[in-house]
Amino acid sequence: MRIGLLGPPGAGKGTQAVTLAEKLKLPHISTGDLLRKNVASDTVLGRQAKDYMQRGALVPDDLVTNMLFEKIAQAEAQEGFILDGYPRNPAQAEALDRVLKEKGASLDLVIYLDTSEKVIIQRLSGRLVCRKCAAIFHRQNMPPKINMCCDHCGGQLYHRSDDKEETVRERLKVYRRETASLIDYYQAKQKLYQVKADEDAGIVLDKMLMLIEKYYDSPKV
Ligand code: AMP
Repeated sequence: MRIGLLGPPGAGKGTQAVTLAEKLKLPHISTGDLLRKNVASDTVLGRQAKDYMQRGALVPDDLVTNMLFEKIAQAEAQEGFILDGYPRNPAQAEALDRVLKEKGASLDLVIYLDTSEKVIIQRLSGRLVCRKCAAIFHRQNMPPKINMCCDHCGGQLYHRSDDKEETVRERLKVYRRETASLIDYYQAKQKLYQVKADEDAGIVLDKMLMLIEKYYDSPKV
């Protein structure tokens, strides 16, 4: 199963991808998480990406694409993956199609998490992320059991610097300008499935699981 998640920042891609990956026993590949790890470890890539990320801009395609393709080539991703945060523009979508085609594969389905701006702002302003394992929490919607401490690994939680209001507005602009056209891109390939994603994470997850089950159970031409 090769499943892509599409949607604006705050749509819940990261939260849903983690749970889906666990349930489907597939690796979760998040380009945002991979980039943040590179920034935290101060690698060459991290140094190149940092400024773009802080501004809420997209990191240049070649940097992200090389990083992602290395990940997709690893043994654990051969049976499939849940992809979160890539592609972010048509050039990335075409690059992904090409690299999968070389393996005789393609994305099976792309789930578009359709989310209102009000919910996006509410989610991002309260989002907390674990420094150690990148698990996602929310001050109100999904608070950790112990204040600022990850339920899964005990790591310290932090508020992403690009989740501050002014950067969120920039990221939403970038999404509309560069990424939103991918809805049409995947629709034209008959791979797009839309899920209304304003509701609680558990409800959205159930809708996604039903859709995935239906997709893989239906005969393919
Ligand atoms: P995310 O965690 O998906 O919200 O990504 C955080 C930031 O990482 C984005 O605002 C971009 O600066 C960068 N980023 C993540 N994925 C990509 C991508 N596919 N292409 C370019 N930049 C990306």
